[in-house]
Amino acid sequence: MKFQQDESKSAPTKASEPLPRAAEGTAIYLHLPFCAAKCHYCDFFSVAAEGQDIEGLLAAVRREIELRAPRSPRTVFLGGGTPSLLSSAQLRELLETLERVTCFRGSASEVTVECNPESLSREKARALLDLGVNRFSIGFQSLDDKTLELFGRVHSAEQSFRAYDAVRAAGAGNVNVDFIYATPGQELDAWRTTLERIVALGTDHVSAYNLTFEEQTPFRRWLEQGELQQLPEDVELEFFHVTRERLARAELPAYEISNFARAGRACEHNLNYWRNGPYVGIGPSAVSKVSFTRGGNIKSVGEYKRRIEREGHAGVWTETPSPAARLGETWWLGLRLAEGLSESEACARAGVSVQDAASDGVRERARATVLELQRQGWLEAHGERWKLSARGLPLADAIAREFLRLGEARAPRE
Ligand code: SF4
Repeated sequence: MKFQQDESKSAPTKASEPLPRAAEGTAIYLHLPFCAAKCHYCDFFSVAAEGQDIEGLLAAVRREIELRAPRSPRTVFLGGGTPSLLSSAQLRELLETLERVTCFRGSASEVTVECNPESLSREKARALLDLGVNRFSIGFQSLDDKTLELFGRVHSAEQSFRAYDAVRAAGAGNVNVDFIYATPGQELDAWRTTLERIVALGTDHVSAYNLTFEEQTPFRRWLEQGELQQLPEDVELEFFHVTRERLARAELPAYEISNFARAGRACEHNLNYWRNGPYVGIGPSAVSKVSFTRGGNIKSVGEYKRRIEREGHAGVWTETPSPAARLGETWWLGLRLAEGLSESEACARAGVSVQDAASDGVRERARATVLELQRQGWLEAHGERWKLSARGLPLADAIAREFLRLGEARAPRE
């Protein structure tokens, strides 16, 4: 599953200085932007690999690791893009550099690599395990070959199963599979059948997302031109509930709106994002959060390489959200998790003091939002903790908008 987008809604500033060095233990994300082909629904920063200077990009990523990677990261995530597209030798060079600089093999409880079926063999999986990877995330997306073709994917469902078997045969003990549901024309019964096949796989983790038609993707254009139809909202809701119910019965309960895991197999790296923790993103377009400042690298392979070589960093924006914005963001991120969050946790994660009178206004406005959402039946109190109610669960995006408003209004004493 991908989770390295700029979630910021406030205007970032241009970065003339690199972000400060992150503390030891901070999570590391490596963005490797090459894919076999560009999927028609995808708005991540990724490019078709053909004709690209892959070696040049990898050299720049290794250099950025030397310059910025924190020691002893708690988690590492190789995303993109399709990291499995790289050769075993390229992955080795990358992960050996990471080990030399950070000693991640002794510190990281979870080291994930995103893979696509067309570039994942048993040998490559074995090589990755030997290099310290202990979690594989495989992009199945659909089990219907016609849908895969519509998506612009370059693999079949059969290849996805073969890739899954290959990583298990190589010895992988922790595997995620990615799916997209509520696709144009998809019948609920077809998705139920897919869910049965997912359950039969015996996977440790499932990421299952309702299809979204992102700006500036062919899917969005086709939707606007009437060539694709989005399923009605009430039908999408049925997909959402069927997914939760079936996976929960298979002991893969939702621990986040779109993520399901066996006990002890929730993705630690992504939990840190939802808990609004710090992270260091390396590679083109990668976003970092150090203390309460966020910053992002340039979204261009060529320009990223040039900046790393010439300037020693490729950051093009930074922002430090206001305390109110941080608190709002912490609330909406934390509420996506089944564990929910308490007011004191939200304040601690957002760096908003519960003692400081100057923060009273910020806290009061956040509390008023929480209580209003409770009144509407979208949030429930569980002791000190707040969680989305059954009615609120499918409305996480609307709830996020309510909290994002906190950052827009200025508190009198902020
Ligand atoms: S493989 Fe993943 S990152 Fe690459 S284009 Fe497709 S969805 Fe985007």
